[in-house]
Amino acid sequence: MLPRRLVIASNNAGKLRELQALLAPAGVEVIAQAALGIAGAEEPHRTFVENALAKARHAARASGLPALADDSGLCCVALGGAPGVRSARFAGEGASDADNNAELVRRLAPYADRRAHYVCVLVALAHADDPEPLLAEARWYGTIVDEPRGHGGFGYDPHFFLPQLGQTAAQLAPAHKNAISHRGQALAALREKLRNHWGW
Ligand code: IMP
Repeated sequence: MLPRRLVIASNNAGKLRELQALLAPAGVEVIAQAALGIAGAEEPHRTFVENALAKARHAARASGLPALADDSGLCCVALGGAPGVRSARFAGEGASDADNNAELVRRLAPYADRRAHYVCVLVALAHADDPEPLLAEARWYGTIVDEPRGHGGFGYDPHFFLPQLGQTAAQLAPAHKNAISHRGQALAALREKLRNHWGW
């Protein structure tokens, strides 16, 4: 049986925190790739799944360990799915969350349609040349509000409003966000596959 250790192919502190919390109950030890001196992979692709696969393969090859990558982002209906795979750099390379949020509000200003969803695609590879990656994806639906609310989460969370809850993602307690978010839902699906296919 494979040791239950996974390198996480991400340097995003918010994502690492959420993935760690979500995998701990399965007894999976999570190692950030930065802790092994592994630099982030390029994300040149047009789709979440291609980027996730590239990141997972890079981390598995560099570490010699099973690897898990998350590629995620925000898709706005009025913007034809943007920022999409460019979510982390919507306002340009090296943009901060504040820069990206300002760009989001600016780009949506002409539109009444505020529907948006987060997407999360997870890819797990047992090793760099694993021909059957485990894949899981999920979406979390909401609307974009101009005024930020709340201080939790990361990224676009202060602007991502959940009509059923009357709160933004940044106003939710971390455990609440993890239970219902795109990443939480995708990870629940992935955990099932880890159990069935890797015996985890
Ligand atoms: P990636 O590292 O290329 O997958 O970029 C993910 C980006 O999508 C993040 O930097 C955020 O801008 C956005 N994002 C993904 N998931 C979340 C979330 O749960 N909350 C807020 N922003 C998110």
